[in-house]
Amino acid sequence: MQHPSSPIDLRSDTVTRPSQEMRAAIAAAPVGDDQYGEDPTVNLLQEKIAALLGKEAALWLPSGTMANQVALRALTRPGDDVIVSRESHAVWHETGAAGANAGVQFTEIGARGTFTVEEFLAARKPPGHVIYPPTTLVEIENTQNRAGGVIFPQDEAERICGAARGHGVFSFLDGARLWNAAVASGRSPAELAAPFDLASVALSKGLGAPGGSLLAGSRELIGRAVRYRRMLGGAMRQVGIFAAAGLYALEHNVARLADDHANARKIGERLASSKRIDIDLPGVQTNILVFTLAAGAPDAPTVVIRARERGVLVFAFTPRMMRAVTHLDVSADQCARAADILVEIAEGPLA
Ligand SMILES: *Cc1c(COP(=O)(O)O)cnc(C)c1O
Repeated sequence: MQHPSSPIDLRSDTVTRPSQEMRAAIAAAPVGDDQYGEDPTVNLLQEKIAALLGKEAALWLPSGTMANQVALRALTRPGDDVIVSRESHAVWHETGAAGANAGVQFTEIGARGTFTVEEFLAARKPPGHVIYPPTTLVEIENTQNRAGGVIFPQDEAERICGAARGHGVFSFLDGARLWNAAVASGRSPAELAAPFDLASVALSKGLGAPGGSLLAGSRELIGRAVRYRRMLGGAMRQVGIFAAAGLYALEHNVARLADDHANARKIGERLASSKRIDIDLPGVQTNILVFTLAAGAPDAPTVVIRARERGVLVFAFTPRMMRAVTHLDVSADQCARAADILVEIAEGPLA
């Protein structure tokens, strides 16, 4: 089969590789021991992210999963209940870390990656009850990955966080793809993060840096997070190597996320043209496409294998549900070609 030497990799926006310019920024970064607070590049990045998210302070962490784990440690106690959207990253994609590290249980509510303040209030368990686990945290994922990169409605997030605060419940924004939500909605990251006690953002997804997430919040909460980062083994040394890539990405790779969103929409429209593929087009709001193989189409593992043979990499979520993600290392032409190939496979033979 004829295809370019490198495949069109739509498995995730984490597959993006640092550009030559980003590598130059990394090479030139002044560094120091971050555990003494002496890495000037990570300090600068933390200040920038705190300002961008409208919070007092921010803390660099090696991964988004650790940001989520540290947030749980900082905001809950073992035995507490945490309310999240159905199919959230915290429940599906962190190997059970919340139970192992923070000892919390999750209550999943809502549909398609979002929920309402009424659903939150109905699921909240009060403190001091003889049998209920107390709800001490509500977590919102924006954009929501497994629901197809949907943007959480901001007015609802404000109502939920306001109600939470009124009941002494903390709020946490899992904003690994908050940049996508900001670019697509026209709202600033600070506006999106404003209702929340703590917010996380990732540098290693659509922004194209090799690693790193940050937590932002009050000085007091970030102070707590420093301890739990160390406890989880995430306190590092010359982190400026990573932070320099993050600073480069913030300057050069945020506005261009609009291209990824346009590419995802074009793929979505092409997939929707096939009777063998079910996709909720209004749900394609950013750079993620989640679609279902209809009756008569091969199953998701088969589509993954056949697409790979034709130079397209995609991800199977369930036996019939698939995900494709656009990012800075795939062009509009490559996305159009990938969409054609996926439709041909969906409409091709079953076995
Ligand atoms: C990717 C992701 C994370 C975890 O980030 P890693 O750096 O892969 O650990 C957390 N939350 C959401 C919503 C994500 O998409």
